[in-house]
Amino acid sequence: MLSSDGAAVGFNGVALGRSQVYGTVAEAVCVQSSRHRCPSTWCDCGFYCFHDAESARALACDEQYERSVLLEILASGRYVSYELGLRYQRQTVRSVRVGRCRCGRTAAALDDVGGGIVGWRRLEPVCRECAGRRAVLSLEKFGTLAGVPVSGDEGGGYAPMGPLAPLSDSDRAGGPADVGGRGPVPDDPEAEIPLLTAEVTLLQARLDELQRRLGRLTDRP
Ligand SMILES: [Zn+2]
Ligand SMILES: [Zn+2]
Repeated sequence: MLSSDGAAVGFNGVALGRSQVYGTVAEAVCVQSSRHRCPSTWCDCGFYCFHDAESARALACDEQYERSVLLEILASGRYVSYELGLRYQRQTVRSVRVGRCRCGRTAAALDDVGGGIVGWRRLEPVCRECAGRRAVLSLEKFGTLAGVPVSGDEGGGYAPMGPLAPLSDSDRAGGPADVGGRGPVPDDPEAEIPLLTAEVTLLQARLDELQRRLGRLTDRP
């Protein structure tokens, strides 16, 4: 999250913690009751962490968490153990790792995506291509404001995936013949002649018409 005056950054919970923005060093707050200390054994409040990053990446496959960033933290204060990690009172963020842009490319910055809360804009990882010429917050700038390093994180989970090889000429089914929206060109190259001739005639007619219109517009005294 980026503060509305642009002077500070913070983090926002996903589910119950959605109403809270916390900084690099923060105390857990219970949104359900102020009458007990966080984390309470009869409440589900407190910060939550996993013991290892892979569990966090697995959680991020779930739709609800896929736009979140991965925080490496130091937990302190009171704590309660649960199956995969700790629920605890105080945390210090050590590093921030951001996943991919919505389009699937590697993130290069953070973008204001709307859906903020009073005083805070919500940011999401964005790649160079999707950011285009829009104003975005660089990962370095976010890191400076947060006081911790920020880097891209894709884990090993994407390792089996890669870009498709470019189409070969034989896959392309005859270049200009595609202009007319027909199917693939027949195997026999001779059979292409009437198709290409028809295509050229069509283009020639279109060109003649455009030249006539251009002539009418520019033929002024
Ligand atoms: Zn509580
Ligand atoms: Zn993108």
